[in-house]
Amino acid sequence: MNPKPCQLLVHHAGSVVTWDSGTSTQADALVIDQGKVVAVGLESELRGAWNPVSELDAGGGLVVPGFVDAHVHPVFAVGRAEEFDWRAEGVEYLEIAKRGGGILSSVRNVRAASEEDLLAKVRSHFRRMRRHGTTACEGKSGYGLSVESELKSLKVMQQAAEAEGMPLYATFLGAHMFPQEHREDPQRYMDILCEEMLPAVKEQGIARAADIFIEEGAFNATQARRYCARAKELGFALRIHADQFHEIGGTQLAVEMEAECVDHLEALSDGGLEALALSGKTFAGLLPTVPHFLRQKIDAPGRKLVQAGVPYFLATDFNPGTSYTPSLPEVAHFARVRLNLSAEQCLFGMTLGAARSLGIGAQKGHLGPGADADLLVLDLPDLFHFGYAFGENPVVKIVVGGKVQQ
Ligand SMILES: [Zn+2]
Repeated sequence: MNPKPCQLLVHHAGSVVTWDSGTSTQADALVIDQGKVVAVGLESELRGAWNPVSELDAGGGLVVPGFVDAHVHPVFAVGRAEEFDWRAEGVEYLEIAKRGGGILSSVRNVRAASEEDLLAKVRSHFRRMRRHGTTACEGKSGYGLSVESELKSLKVMQQAAEAEGMPLYATFLGAHMFPQEHREDPQRYMDILCEEMLPAVKEQGIARAADIFIEEGAFNATQARRYCARAKELGFALRIHADQFHEIGGTQLAVEMEAECVDHLEALSDGGLEALALSGKTFAGLLPTVPHFLRQKIDAPGRKLVQAGVPYFLATDFNPGTSYTPSLPEVAHFARVRLNLSAEQCLFGMTLGAARSLGIGAQKGHLGPGADADLLVLDLPDLFHFGYAFGENPVVKIVVGGKVQQ
């Protein structure tokens, strides 16, 4: 039988992690055609059956599914490096927010930025993520906090993703914080969120999910209940920030509302953990660089959550105020050290775990036949080395949709 033509042969891998058959050490090559994985196996056998148009030599490196970053705030205009000094002086996150810093300073910058300037910034954020191996991502608005600025943020994020070839799963986060002009009348902002913003975002079809920050100083459980119910009614999936500093009922509400995920969980109680384990549907979004960045002493109970069978993902929470890193390999290191996860659990959480939380686990996050051909070559001798070093980027080759990125 003559070899069949195909688009790309990736060969000379040290090993290939597909998640279809666990961490396979048998395979050292993959066949890709029309942007999809069509076969995984031994190079010697695949060469007999396929005739590739082009080839990629993995140089003995570890081939893994492309990273999916499932919690990202890419729509910001300037960083907040000065707050990093305030933190060194002992000023707390919620105190920074009260001073009009924190999220609200990003809001001022996003509102003031032209669409053109914002687009250039968001594109640069996606490029930084891509260099560290992110081949698809979730992305949130949430630094606009007005109908106009939230719509602008979502539109610009979509344009940036298209321009950079970054598959994007957009989330509306108008309920990130109460904007300055409504701090004295939160009820008014709740009305705007539920009756103006959510319907406008829905009408434009520019976000698949809605998110809310449930926390002291942000939204309480009663406000969140109204917002989540309205978002669900309009057909949005729910992704929720909760239990970051204080447990005020966010996780229980997320489970009750069948949210896709509840993220942070540093202040999660045993009751909250039990609720998540019983649900089995709502993912725990683990963001271990955030407490590091905020100099917090507590971490999410990562290992306990995973052992309890709670579906989970790991993400960067890339944003200017609480986790200024676009790097999932860096997150893996923090997850190993602070959440006590294994290398394999880390890689799973930022590939198939993340993809499943977004409802795209069939096509992304794994490398079985039929999956999107999004993959990375890591300059690592084996999986145990993933997240072992920090401050280094192990990603040496990136393939998105079967195309080798330069
Ligand atoms: Zn976040």
